[in-house]
Amino acid sequence: MYNLADQRWRKQPKQMSLDTLKQVVTRIRDHSYLHEVRKVKIGLHGGEPLLVGPDKLETIIDTLQGTLWSAGIDPRITIQTNGLLFNERFGDLLLRKGVTLGVSVDGIPAINDLHRVDHKGRGSSKRLEEKLHLLSQHYHRIFAGLLCVVNPLSDPTETFDYLASFKPPTINFLLPLDHHDRRPPGKEHNLSDAPYGRWLADAFDRWASHPTPMRVLMFNSFINLLNGKQSLTESHGTNPASIAVVETNGDIEAGDALKATDEFATVLGLNVSNNSFDDAYDRVVGQALSEGLGRLPSACQSCDLVKVCGGGDAPTRYSKANGFKNVSVYCLDYAFLIDHIQQRMLVAQASMRQLQSRVSMRQG
Ligand code: SF4
Repeated sequence: MYNLADQRWRKQPKQMSLDTLKQVVTRIRDHSYLHEVRKVKIGLHGGEPLLVGPDKLETIIDTLQGTLWSAGIDPRITIQTNGLLFNERFGDLLLRKGVTLGVSVDGIPAINDLHRVDHKGRGSSKRLEEKLHLLSQHYHRIFAGLLCVVNPLSDPTETFDYLASFKPPTINFLLPLDHHDRRPPGKEHNLSDAPYGRWLADAFDRWASHPTPMRVLMFNSFINLLNGKQSLTESHGTNPASIAVVETNGDIEAGDALKATDEFATVLGLNVSNNSFDDAYDRVVGQALSEGLGRLPSACQSCDLVKVCGGGDAPTRYSKANGFKNVSVYCLDYAFLIDHIQQRMLVAQASMRQLQSRVSMRQG
């Protein structure tokens, strides 16, 4: 996010003050109370949230949990981190507080180190592996999962096996947050190919045959949607937005993936000091960023796959000329993957039917 089009973070406070945090949690409490929501998900992310240190992190968690628990609301807090600062002190704290930790890693060290480097430009994978082993072996109860941005030049099976070796309960594959004006790697000159779709289809097959059960949010979401159920993420399907982002200065903004498109794409003109989360919801829907099929271009609205694909992540449809009224730069990748999953589901259903008929013949 910090290398994307929106660079306003440079002018914002490095950390959220305790006063702003108290306003945020009051807004969350009031919103939950008003809508009779008894569970809320709160993600702490940055930058790098562990940079606040264990003492301030404990204060942040206590402030969130204390305010919400006393109103009968159960906050599920997750921290998204690059993992490099994780240690026993953080582990013990999060275990005690029941807060989970998701780690970003982009695959095997040779791939991960292409982008995830320290201030001296050195790859971080070796240090990260130590932290992931610590998390996986000693703090598995707080391990939320791994987040991996797909690199189509990597080997999908090798990548999946590497991620799975840390026994994450969940893997979240993301496609690079690129769009029509800044094409994704491997699609710079040609959008009518599906390198990401092929990569994900191979990863899907590896996942489906893997001995360790784990959720892969994109795959589970597509399976759910193909079965007429709910997506597990905002990125797929046609559900309205359910995420609001609060910046360190208290500004309430739309989902931060949109920062890939334009400097002011997430700006709603709202702040927790003056505005509620209902104001944010009305503003997001008013801007038609995330409400149902009407937000999509006509090609998506008439597409057979729209209820599953949902037009993909909104930023991936963006161009300066047309706004979000393009199909996604990953249109063919989504179509390839969804078709692949559908074929696999049909084969699995046919063999289940065969099995059931063999069992009933035996019983008969
Ligand atoms: S992005 Fe492509 S596959 Fe997805 S709904 Fe639109 S046209 Fe269909």
